[in-house]
Amino acid sequence: MKSSDGMRPDPSPDGDPWADIRDGVRKLCARFPGSYWQVLDRDRMYPEAFVAALTEAGYLACLIPEKYGGAGLPVAAAVAVLEEIHRSGGNGAACHAQMYMMGALLRHGSEAQKQRYLPDVAAGKLRLQAFGVTEPNAGSDTLGLQTRADRDGDSYVINGQKIWTSRAEHSDLMLLLARTAPADSVAKRTDGLSLFLVDMAEALQAGLTIRPIRTMLNHATTEVFFKDLRIPSTARIGEDGKGFRYILDGMNAERILVAAECIGDARFFIDRAVAYAGERVVFGRPIGQNQGVQFPIARAYAETEAADLMVQRAARRFDSALSCGPESNMAKLLAADASWHAAECCLQTHGGFGFAEEYDIERKFRETRLYQVAPVSTNLILGYIGQHVLGLPRSY
Ligand SMILES: Cc1cc2nc3c(=O)[nH]c(=O)nc-3n(C[C@H](O)[C@H](O)[C@H](O)COP(=O)(O)OP(=O)(O)OC[C@H]3O[C@@H](n4cnc5c(N)ncnc54)[C@H](O)[C@@H]3O)c2cc1C
Repeated sequence: MKSSDGMRPDPSPDGDPWADIRDGVRKLCARFPGSYWQVLDRDRMYPEAFVAALTEAGYLACLIPEKYGGAGLPVAAAVAVLEEIHRSGGNGAACHAQMYMMGALLRHGSEAQKQRYLPDVAAGKLRLQAFGVTEPNAGSDTLGLQTRADRDGDSYVINGQKIWTSRAEHSDLMLLLARTAPADSVAKRTDGLSLFLVDMAEALQAGLTIRPIRTMLNHATTEVFFKDLRIPSTARIGEDGKGFRYILDGMNAERILVAAECIGDARFFIDRAVAYAGERVVFGRPIGQNQGVQFPIARAYAETEAADLMVQRAARRFDSALSCGPESNMAKLLAADASWHAAECCLQTHGGFGFAEEYDIERKFRETRLYQVAPVSTNLILGYIGQHVLGLPRSY
């Protein structure tokens, strides 16, 4: 969808500039009800039809500038898209990375790379949604990663392993962070890592192996192995050794958008809890009349509204090109807590029925638990706030 098709801000009576987008996403999601997600969840299948519908409607290209075929909208618009997907009971994790991963290419790629890839990504012909950062031996300590990309003439030769590389089987390109200089040879710990755009189809013929990991939620995540994979030096984004800085730039966008998904999840749980608490009659009255049932829902609502304010603030600062590290991290922290607390109270409100697949509560419960750990764990955000915002001693 182009901006002329209604994705531009159109102030609604309640002042939400993205009311039209929200309405469009809600209508699209209504075609993919709980029964659709339940089948996929049971069989751990990828939501092809849903992703195709979102792509066709242009939502996944909303952040790509118009000159490369996207809608050129701010992150605040993508927040509205992902929040509505999650509020509807769906899940954007199958494709959300398609929205923000192109940011590294946009900000740090050459004009030739942008011309080559961005229009096809915007048109949905190329999927750029596999992000190879986490490694089994490094975990949250990204600078400890060991996968190597050794320069050899006009190529780099890649050896190593990544874990939790989500959507690798459903992506045409992978953004890969690899070591191009030994850790003990660089002046700063953040130097010596480089960013590459790997063509997955070619790589699968030349040294890349993908192994799916079955998890407690349907997330299409994998581990990937590189054995003497040779890629052209033109696959590098930006300068050699500066890759870590390039991915840091994009992490704020990722955190804001994941926070938006959490807000959507929280609102899904609160909607469901309120509806059920009003209609379920036990001991001759609706269970929602009991303060023991009502108050946790009210608290979850208050927490969600407060977290949403931080998400909006972080998005505003990002879109105004202001520093937004603290706000993006706090948005992710508060929204993930709000969604988890709302999940807990919604499950409890439903009693035994909360555990039945057909209610979608147990599935969403499992799905929203992820955000305490990925894409960055709660402790790591608290450590960031302690050190970088409050000036406390470094803890990691
Ligand atoms: C379903 C799923 C999808 C994912 N998708 C991707 C992806 O597409 N691409 C990608 O690169 N990664 C992905 N990840 C990885 C994710 O970002 C990491 O799991 C996450 O950052 C935590 O790293 P870890 O699992 O190695 O935990 P670890 O770093 O081993 O940490 C384990 C626990 O210890 C805590 N901890 C560690 N160090 C400290 C410290 N100094 N102080 C306090 N607490 C500490 C952590 O908070 C955590 O709770 C995904 C993970 C999952 C589960």
